[in-house]
Amino acid sequence: MDDIILGGVYMKITYIGHSGFMVELEQTWMLFDYYKGEIPVLPKGKRGFVFASHRHSDHFNPEIFRLAESGGVTFILSSDIWKKRIPEYVKEQSVHLKPNTEFSAEGIRVHTLRSTDEGVAFLVEAEGKTIYHAGDLNNWYWKEESKEWNQNMDEKFRSYIEPLRGKKIDAAFIPLDPRQEEYYSLGMDYFLNLADAVQVYPMHFWGEPEIISRWYEEHLDSPDRNRVVKISYEGEIFQQ
Ligand SMILES: [Zn+2]
Repeated sequence: MDDIILGGVYMKITYIGHSGFMVELEQTWMLFDYYKGEIPVLPKGKRGFVFASHRHSDHFNPEIFRLAESGGVTFILSSDIWKKRIPEYVKEQSVHLKPNTEFSAEGIRVHTLRSTDEGVAFLVEAEGKTIYHAGDLNNWYWKEESKEWNQNMDEKFRSYIEPLRGKKIDAAFIPLDPRQEEYYSLGMDYFLNLADAVQVYPMHFWGEPEIISRWYEEHLDSPDRNRVVKISYEGEIFQQ
């Protein structure tokens, strides 16, 4: 596929599957939460960053360490991922980040938020673009849980995501999980109001992109309709 360059600012986003995305900028590529599916061909001559938000098997697959072979790759891992799972040959290229920490390397700045599940969410700045990947930071309201549990979750979610209030974000990756039934969009709707995100890519929908259509059907008058990206298949490419 030809690359599109818009006024020198370029961003290509590939939906790989579940919470896995590849983001390509002019000099940088970033892979987020890969666990299965096809990783796009790595662009040559660019800096690479591979992120894993936590150790759950739907967010972290040790297969990612093979990408070290292409050179110039840094692994940015949540500190809950056991060090013994990291092969010796990539240890020097890996950093382990706790919640609420900063990391900078050539061409990139990363800030982590605490998750309401395990690990972290990533706020990344590179080449003048700001990208947010939530990992499992979401309002995990479950009907089976007690009122107190859900209330506590709601409070934690609001406080952990508060650093994003008013934040200008170019691309945000946000859970929209059909398992939560009628509460599926609590977290995403809160995020849409909180942050100033240009495009929001729903994720973590377990192979059921129809949940995005449901959101559209249930948000007929929402001013956010043009910001929520309709993902329909794995491998789909978006440009912005
Ligand atoms: Zn998950």
